[in-house]
Amino acid sequence: MLRSHNCGELRKTDIKKRVKLAGWVHSLRSFGKKAFIDLRDRHGITQAVLGEEFKAVYSELPRESVVLVEGAVVKRKQPNSAINTGEIEVIADKFIVLSKSKPLPLEIFNPDIKTTEEKRLEYRFLDLRRPEMQRAMEFRFGAETLIRQYMLLKDFVEIETPFMSRPTPEGARDFLVPSRSFKGKFWALPQSPQIYKQLLMVAGFDKYFQIVRCFRDEDLRADRQYEFTQIDIETSFSEESDIQELSEGLISLLYAQLLGIKLKRPFKQMSWEHAIDLYGSDKPDTRFGIELIELTDELRESGFKIIEKQIRADGIAKAILIPEELTRKETKAMEKIAKDYGFPGVAWTWIQKELKGGVAEQLEPIKTKLKKLGKGTLLILAGDWARVCEALGAMRLAAAEKLDLRKGLDVLWVTDFPLFKWSQEKQRLQSGHHPFTLPKPEKLSDLFENLSEQELLDIRSQAFDLVINGTEVGGGSMRITDKKLQERIFELLKIDRKTAKEKFGMLLKAFDYGVPPHGGIAFGFDRLLQVMLGKDSIRDVIAFPKNKVGRALMEDGPAKADQELLDELGIKTGD
Ligand code: ASP
Repeated sequence: MLRSHNCGELRKTDIKKRVKLAGWVHSLRSFGKKAFIDLRDRHGITQAVLGEEFKAVYSELPRESVVLVEGAVVKRKQPNSAINTGEIEVIADKFIVLSKSKPLPLEIFNPDIKTTEEKRLEYRFLDLRRPEMQRAMEFRFGAETLIRQYMLLKDFVEIETPFMSRPTPEGARDFLVPSRSFKGKFWALPQSPQIYKQLLMVAGFDKYFQIVRCFRDEDLRADRQYEFTQIDIETSFSEESDIQELSEGLISLLYAQLLGIKLKRPFKQMSWEHAIDLYGSDKPDTRFGIELIELTDELRESGFKIIEKQIRADGIAKAILIPEELTRKETKAMEKIAKDYGFPGVAWTWIQKELKGGVAEQLEPIKTKLKKLGKGTLLILAGDWARVCEALGAMRLAAAEKLDLRKGLDVLWVTDFPLFKWSQEKQRLQSGHHPFTLPKPEKLSDLFENLSEQELLDIRSQAFDLVINGTEVGGGSMRITDKKLQERIFELLKIDRKTAKEKFGMLLKAFDYGVPPHGGIAFGFDRLLQVMLGKDSIRDVIAFPKNKVGRALMEDGPAKADQELLDELGIKTGD
């Protein structure tokens, strides 16, 4: 080895040893006849002392050059308690520059100097030198290792599934890979191994898992990447509660081992309906109050005309009370949220000793009830239940952000999701989770009846999400194993028989050969790490992520392909 120790290793007990260290010049301070180098690697920093004999080598040496130091470990006269090796230093008798660095194009170590994320991603190989990034990568590996150990203990088998398979969309857009051998045909990168893992259940692997890359061509956000990693799990002969228990064990293990935090088990459970009704979100952040307040009955005949009209049209009225007097400007920001959700505005008033400002006058008839709620700014919306709840939910989060209430840790299951949701864009039903999700048992036979759209939207499924601090970190469900039911679901989703056979034929075929009851879950691994580490962006837990708009800045991707290859693939790009 070029080195006998790493840069974070030497202690008082090593004094008098001869050592060889190698690493990056973190800093270099020259005092008269001596120079002090903070030599850094992933493990830490060790101070090396260079005598005058090396002056010609070190005097022009830029930071971040890679050097080799050989010498004796001695006691440091002025110990530095900020570093693990602070009690010793190495007196160099050999000093070799292995690679000189150019001046850095970005500041990586001084937290006071802000660097744009674009620059960080362009020079990711430098950005990854930051201790914070190195810790994140180590944390990620630690989590992966623990997951594999846990799954092994629980008798699971990790099985790899293909990255190139036939396009079988799961909700998002597929990434396609053109086939050279079969011109005009395409492979798709998997959005998840959903169908494969169900086929593995048919194959008798009753406990499958995989830490697997998934690909979805969606617009990126702070918590989304084209390619991301899932902890994918599927089990046979199990029930919803078994999958939840297994998941709770896994998540609790990660929190305990990696963060020293003991999670309270069993995790809380909340139905989807309750989550929407009380928090205006299917991934509620329940670390703070500001719950949605029902005011439909109070406002039905209160004389507040616009609201009464909404209620008469089968709508509801709800409010949130923000425990602070919002300024006009802040109220405007809330109004903007209401408008984003299609409301003309938001009715507001301050609750002090009396109601004041905004719509105080219209609320006069119900002021006794309102004053009991407490003090602050009351924001009211009326209209369609889901839309009112979601808009108030968004205001609730904005208020919590402003009041800095999104703190602490809260883990919960959201259960009983609707089987279908309505797609405004496509004007048809879509799966709430995915088309393989089992409806609630009491509703199974209903599905073959002639139900109205609303009745179909009211059907609940055996699907559940794990939510941590208002972020969805995982979702799973029990699966359909009956061919007739699966075909009926496709029919309701307006996937005709031919398309269903083309896309999901292998699953339908497998259902003919003895299929065990099964269900599973998948956790967004990157997102889970992001939440555990309290990072603002999923990109901070991925070594080489795409930027916000899906470009790879370091390697400058995506890029044009060679014409020769395009010709072989039979692809014309049109430019
Ligand atoms: N395949 C699903 C997803 O990626 C998760 C599951 O149902 O297991 O969301």
